[in-house]
Amino acid sequence: MKRIGLLTSGGDCPGLNACIRAVVRTASFYSLEVYGFKRGFKGLIDNDYSVLDYKSVAGILQKGGTVLLTAREPRFKDYNFRKLAYENLKNLGIDSLIVIGGNGSFQGANLLASEFDLNVVGIPKTIDNDIYGTEYAIGFDTAVNNAMDAIDKIKDTTVSHERIFIVEVMGRDSGFIALEVGIATGAEITIIPEYPFPLHVIEEKIVKSKDMGKNFAIIVLAEGVTSAKQLSEILNERLKDKGIGDIRYSVLGYIQRGGSPTAYDRIMASRFGYFAVKKLVEGERNFMVAFENGMIVSKPLGISFGKVRIPDIEEYQLNNILSL
Ligand code: ATP
Repeated sequence: MKRIGLLTSGGDCPGLNACIRAVVRTASFYSLEVYGFKRGFKGLIDNDYSVLDYKSVAGILQKGGTVLLTAREPRFKDYNFRKLAYENLKNLGIDSLIVIGGNGSFQGANLLASEFDLNVVGIPKTIDNDIYGTEYAIGFDTAVNNAMDAIDKIKDTTVSHERIFIVEVMGRDSGFIALEVGIATGAEITIIPEYPFPLHVIEEKIVKSKDMGKNFAIIVLAEGVTSAKQLSEILNERLKDKGIGDIRYSVLGYIQRGGSPTAYDRIMASRFGYFAVKKLVEGERNFMVAFENGMIVSKPLGISFGKVRIPDIEEYQLNNILSL
């Protein structure tokens, strides 16, 4: 192995550049060349790449986004385009590919590994933190901190105006961000898709809180449940006679996945990138980098295929007990 391919795929997140840097610098240490493909799997299909050397990744560690760019590439679901991607890699003399991606990217990576004679490594990244097989994915910590900072600010208004505020956070179908942010901000109610509770329970919680003399509340809502707009309309209608005032909402959106990565994300991204290349050099094939019980380990790439990770029920219960 002399040359490895590298790409970032799916949604961007803070920490990708730190991981790219770690892969390139570790590869350089072992005298390997890194071909960085642009815009995820699109770059593989279109043969769009640049050679990344030690110097080319200087100054990117602390930057959000990805210098390799990223994209969603529907053509990769078609075998013929995956074959074209493989042939492009083969023609460049690349026999190992590192994919920094989320669940979808891992599906594509796994197909590539099983259909062709190619060594494929998955490094987990997604602010949703829902990749099966690993307890951590790059970007999650920064997203939680970004959301926490925003909610702390919203809370000032919530308390001063004695209001109820619904804050919608990202996570696609996953509730990890909402759950952690709910704990970190002391949210009165946290609603996530994995353990949904019925509307009447939310109403009861709000009324109970008011009866106990608490005139404000933050409801953290995972986007995978419903929109904050819709929930506020429903609750405003159903609670209009309860004297709790107008329920407002705020959608945090893309600010959650932008900006400079936290120290934790920089460190984890660096460790993941280093580990991936080191294991490749040691001869390991078709694996994903995973974080488990405080250790970075490798697992078969196919382990996450078709599965997602869901939050621990204990964490969810903790959130409910500490709220209100
Ligand atoms: P994130 O969770 O951060 O959004 P992701 O990797 O899950 O990251 P997706 O948009 O789901 O993001 O997938 C990224 C890309 O992976 C897709 O645009 C596509 O190119 C490829 N991909 C996804 N699913 C498949 C699949 N079933 N077969 C082949 N390729 C796939």
